[in-house]
Amino acid sequence: MKIFLRFTAVLLVILTLTSAGSVRKKPLNLILFIGDGMGVSHVYAAMTVSGNSMTFPAFPVTGFSRTHSANSYSTDSAAGGTALATGEKTNNKMISVRPDSTVLVTLLEHACTAGKSTGIVCTSSLTDATPAAFSAHVPQRYDYSAIAAWYAGGTAEVFIGGGRKYFEAQLDSAGSFKRSEDVVSMLSRAGYDVTYDLESFVASEATRIAGLMSQDDMPRLFEGRDPQYLAKATAKAIEVLSRNRKGFVLMVEGSEVDDAGHSNETKMVTDEVLDMDRAVAVAREFADKDGKTLIVVTADHETGGMSITGGDLEKREVKGAFSFTGHSGVMVPVFAYGPGAMTFTGIQENTELFYNFYRLLSLDKKKR
Ligand SMILES: [Zn+2]
Repeated sequence: MKIFLRFTAVLLVILTLTSAGSVRKKPLNLILFIGDGMGVSHVYAAMTVSGNSMTFPAFPVTGFSRTHSANSYSTDSAAGGTALATGEKTNNKMISVRPDSTVLVTLLEHACTAGKSTGIVCTSSLTDATPAAFSAHVPQRYDYSAIAAWYAGGTAEVFIGGGRKYFEAQLDSAGSFKRSEDVVSMLSRAGYDVTYDLESFVASEATRIAGLMSQDDMPRLFEGRDPQYLAKATAKAIEVLSRNRKGFVLMVEGSEVDDAGHSNETKMVTDEVLDMDRAVAVAREFADKDGKTLIVVTADHETGGMSITGGDLEKREVKGAFSFTGHSGVMVPVFAYGPGAMTFTGIQENTELFYNFYRLLSLDKKKR
């Protein structure tokens, strides 16, 4: 009996260790979704309207992220994006630089050094604060021309969004400096296939692809953006980046959830959150086949101080209410799926999310 008990105890220890091991298994790839301005109410409103059929709210691991910036209780997308992209809090309006303007190394740059492939997909302009935090280093978020030029450095091998005019301009945003060539020419010289519509982007067989989908911001869904755009662009980016045996890091932004919050439009909120969810579904399908991909869905901050004052689950109706038109200071939700997901439970600083990515992807160890 004693021997049997001892054997059972040993077996239990082994079982515990193996199951803990699988929970701690490290991912090779990361797909990070940022719903710009997406708070808990935005997500629950979309869940209600969808009849609870969404992908990311069903992820097994959830947590919260604290979003304050270095100089403000309520962050903007520049400091919020910088925290997720570099692990450091900076001042509002600053893009992946410290408050003293010195450069912070981004997740995509670390991934490149480790030999991984990298990409950015968004529904706003590529020069907007969130994609910029993953691709550029500028002290002033509205310096769109300088941000566009950073893309020619090649940190994101595949990128798609709006903002074509900043890639074609030779003048800087202040109109004072004239470049010898525009960013489109620089990109072509760096080996990018520069495309101007989703079909050509998806059809491209190049290993470096730029997608410049509109002159400025891409249209919001209610203005006619293709409801399949984000999902198809995400699928293409995954297809290209996943050819790298060393893995990849892809950032996808549901950019216009923020606009919806600023304009206090509940229907626009739910449409834009569901739009991002269609792209998450594509990522999850890949992750299920691949088994080595971590998906994290979060936000840079909440917009609009949104609450829900009523609704009807059967009729899939929701009554949103907003407290103002700016960014609030509330915590934002985090949803995680795949190897390493357990790391994202509890309440963490937005900067800690970066360090989780950094450690889980072994970016500290793997040098090319
Ligand atoms: Zn905003």
